[in-house]
Amino acid sequence: MNNWRVDVDGDGIALVTFDMAGKKVNTLSSEVIAEFTAIVERINSDDAIKGAVLASAKPGMFCAGGDLTDIKSFAGPGEPGKEAETVAADIERMSRDMAVFRRLETSGKPVACAIEGTALGGGAELAMACHYRVAADSEQVLLGLPEGGLGLLPGGGGTQRLPRLIGIQESLPILLQGVTKTAAEALKIGWVNEVAPVGQAIERARKWVRETGDPVQPWDKPKFKVPGGGPYVQANSEALAMHAAMSRQKFYGNYPAQLHILTALYEGIQVPFDAGLRIEMREFIRTVRTPQALAMIRTSFLSPREIKSGANRPAGVPVKTFKKATVLGAGLMGAGIACVQAQVGIETVLIDRTQEAAERGKAYTATYLGKQIKRGRMTQEKADQILGRIVATTDYSHVRGSDIVVEAVFEDREVKADVTRLAEAELAPDAIMATNTSTLPITGLAEASVRPANFIGLHFFSPVERMDLVEIIRGEATSNDTLAAAYDYIATIRKTPISVKDSRGFYTSRTITCYLEEPCEMLVEGIAPAIIENIGLMTGMPVGPLTLPDAIGLELPYHVLEQTKRDLGEAYKPTASDTVLKFLVEQHGRHGRRNGKGFYDYSEDGKEKTIWPGLAGLAQPTLTDAFDEDVKDELKKRILYRMSLEAARCMEEGIITDPREADVGAALGFGFPKWTGGPISLIEQIGIPKFVAECDALADRHGERFRPGPMLRSMAAEGRTFY
Ligand code: NAD
Repeated sequence: MNNWRVDVDGDGIALVTFDMAGKKVNTLSSEVIAEFTAIVERINSDDAIKGAVLASAKPGMFCAGGDLTDIKSFAGPGEPGKEAETVAADIERMSRDMAVFRRLETSGKPVACAIEGTALGGGAELAMACHYRVAADSEQVLLGLPEGGLGLLPGGGGTQRLPRLIGIQESLPILLQGVTKTAAEALKIGWVNEVAPVGQAIERARKWVRETGDPVQPWDKPKFKVPGGGPYVQANSEALAMHAAMSRQKFYGNYPAQLHILTALYEGIQVPFDAGLRIEMREFIRTVRTPQALAMIRTSFLSPREIKSGANRPAGVPVKTFKKATVLGAGLMGAGIACVQAQVGIETVLIDRTQEAAERGKAYTATYLGKQIKRGRMTQEKADQILGRIVATTDYSHVRGSDIVVEAVFEDREVKADVTRLAEAELAPDAIMATNTSTLPITGLAEASVRPANFIGLHFFSPVERMDLVEIIRGEATSNDTLAAAYDYIATIRKTPISVKDSRGFYTSRTITCYLEEPCEMLVEGIAPAIIENIGLMTGMPVGPLTLPDAIGLELPYHVLEQTKRDLGEAYKPTASDTVLKFLVEQHGRHGRRNGKGFYDYSEDGKEKTIWPGLAGLAQPTLTDAFDEDVKDELKKRILYRMSLEAARCMEEGIITDPREADVGAALGFGFPKWTGGPISLIEQIGIPKFVAECDALADRHGERFRPGPMLRSMAAEGRTFY
């Protein structure tokens, strides 16, 4: 077997160890399940085996859940016209696979499980199919069923076994909101039966099998009652109603999985266990067949993995290693970049104009590490090592020996040119010179460089230690080797790269700008600000469209607009955001949350906010309530489609070339709604011909900004897709 080991001891207890070959984590792939099925058959039929203990050989990890590559193979709507047929076939296949959990718990032999690390999704479901669960008293133990928040449904018995173990009320937040439990918490609610000192979980599980070993699950015993009663017990029915409402409040109905999970739980708990499992399978298939599930599996899991493993890195260029790196500018971005470099073991030089500023940048890492220690995620010794890798200085001789320099000084061409010259004087010929500019063209900045082939843009996001994305921007002279090296550097600091062409706003800034512009269009049409803000949230964007620019600061988009106007001259076409930003920044001195006034008025401590009544001065009110579903629907589409259209234009113009990068970039860069799978996946979810027709209708009603370009039209006509 490739993924399991079975060792039977003198007492006839089989230790079944999960250890996927060549993988860091265990997942329930179809091969894993096929092998496990053979093991369960052996437990069932071999008289020498009296019972079994399940464990994992991976440190800190029991099992991470189902294999999403497998699930993707049948996710999304089936073939047109054959949906019902394929659904039935999928139900049968999945039920056959999952029946192994049922055979395990009805083998007549006691099975215990030793959980010494994370047991998520299918991993937690496998543990629940054992008669007894021992968790190690370790911080690494975490139990959870996160599927609900990812647009999926636990289809391995999770919606049925969990409420039968711990009751309906405790199950709801775990199933719907993805709440996870530590070993101690799991013990308290009865999800595990015992907590053992680290290193003793397997022994304790074995002891239970040998000495107590009850081979019948509670739900297979006569007169079984769900702990806390069924859905009609008042507290449970209240909890069900409350969680349905909470799910609506959190997800705005964008995740079909939420309702399907509630259905599986509510219906399944009222019937015998095996019937409950069939209901769960029906709801599971219903969920994976939604276009949302396909899009989410792809953009949340598979595409980032493919991109990170170098799907778009130029092939054939030897991998470059990064041992030493210099960061120029120890401000917000530079300090963050130094922090992530030092954490992965890169010797980091952090340069600023004064020693004090450089030290301040280094202190950022000290503060960050201090927080990690406080949370128990890092030892003092490890933190000291990391901090020891950062040299804060004003002296450019320290640059010598760096494999890369990342420039993050003020957004000013002259300042950037100066520091580039100073750093390059110390650099080896093959080292990389990168700039973290957010708006200046890379080709122009490369003019200050003596070896423009090694010059490249690396656009980080703030806060660097939390934001996973880096945009790579290639200038006209950037070489293939430099591009490959940029991918290697990003892999070293464990971020996700997308590669974009050198152009105004690159990719993410250009797309997110629509989230400012379309709401401004709505404001000048006289739509009430509260409606606009709520509609933005209803699309699934993480922050409302009026709150976001306030948080960033209104001067920034204002200056970007002014700069664009100067750069484009006659060609510049003013938009509603010019009107709104001028009104706020120029006429009313409203600069956003920092000065306590922007689209909102803020209380002194910044915690309370109310929409600024003065916004009424922008237009005569035309829409003051939005109870009508069609009205809401159109407003939501205006916001989402604007961004999707812009992403498609970026693909059309070759700013970005891989739809996976366009989707992952928008998701990681600015939180494009998860349920869509990204702006390009959204177009595919709707279907390109329908999307084009809907955009044409929006263009007729609201303006040419919604008119789809020739690429989308020809794709629609020829039946082509992005993926
Ligand atoms: P910041 O003002 O916080 O930091 C800039 C730092 O550069 C300051 O510490 C300053 O003292 C230092 N500096 C200025 N001139 C210098 C010189 N001649 N030599 C050495 N150091 C010098 O700015 P920031 O927000 O960190 O932005 C830095 C760069 O990153 C800018 O190009 C910006 O456009 C870009 N960027 C910013 C963000 C963001 O969210 N803030 C995101 C992506 C990219």
